[in-house]
Amino acid sequence: MANKWALVLHGGAGPIFGQDYSAQEKHIANLLKAGGKRLADGETALDVVESLVAAMEASGLYLAGKGAAPNTAGEYELDAAIMDGRTRNAGAVGALQGVLSPIAAARMVMERTPNVLIVAAGARRLADAAGLATVDDPDAYYVPVDERTRQVGVPDVGTVGAVALDRYGDMSAATSTAGIMNKTPGRIGDTPVIGAGTWADERCAISCTGLGEYFIRANAAADVSARIRYGGSALEPAVQGALDDVKRLGGEGGMIAVSADGGMTALFNSGGMKRGMTDSDGRFEVATFL
Ligand code: ASP
Repeated sequence: MANKWALVLHGGAGPIFGQDYSAQEKHIANLLKAGGKRLADGETALDVVESLVAAMEASGLYLAGKGAAPNTAGEYELDAAIMDGRTRNAGAVGALQGVLSPIAAARMVMERTPNVLIVAAGARRLADAAGLATVDDPDAYYVPVDERTRQVGVPDVGTVGAVALDRYGDMSAATSTAGIMNKTPGRIGDTPVIGAGTWADERCAISCTGLGEYFIRANAAADVSARIRYGGSALEPAVQGALDDVKRLGGEGGMIAVSADGGMTALFNSGGMKRGMTDSDGRFEVATFL
């Protein structure tokens, strides 16, 4: 067993300047401590990223899981994806309604079906058949969107994501979201599109946040790996290059990443990104703005 491990989390790239994100930062710090200990104890990156994203979903502090915002029809449609870099297995759900943990549904797709992405009613049926916990009364469960966010009128984004390198040298990525505020019913963003918002292989693991349409058009997450593979790039310039491509198309957002050598980065071209990172060398950082 190698000794190096690394863990990076994000809570979305759409923070509003002047708003207080101390609750999210504290939550991210606690998850980093717990997740770091589990990686140090030899748990796999796959299990750690899934459970940390599930904890972020359940917290109601982000626009994912319990904190989800409704679409223009007043429905809660959630997207999530998980990818195991060791095997390149991946599972994702899109426009999923009424399932407590979309990331658990994504892992179920990965492990119990021959498919990668299942959406809407089909995903719900599979989740029910697998016995995943459901949300019976959406209006009672989901936290109302913060009134200040509405007033500012900024399309707040608050996807959550986790990437990790474990002591076996394997990496995984997990991302979960309600998408963007006031989205069109049936709209699916980059999060569950493998290669766009979520990616893991033997070179890196990536989770994205931001305006998903641009990340899809840039194939942003997989582009980081391609820059490493074909361009010989180090992790940080590879992430910066992918983000610059998103920006060139007109999009903004951020990405978190780990690499096989234990590298970590969290970059954004938006106003900020709730984020944190920790590793086996003792690095520990949490921030929202620059
Ligand atoms: N990327 C997400 C989407 O477009 C939104 C976000 O990052 O908050 O669905």
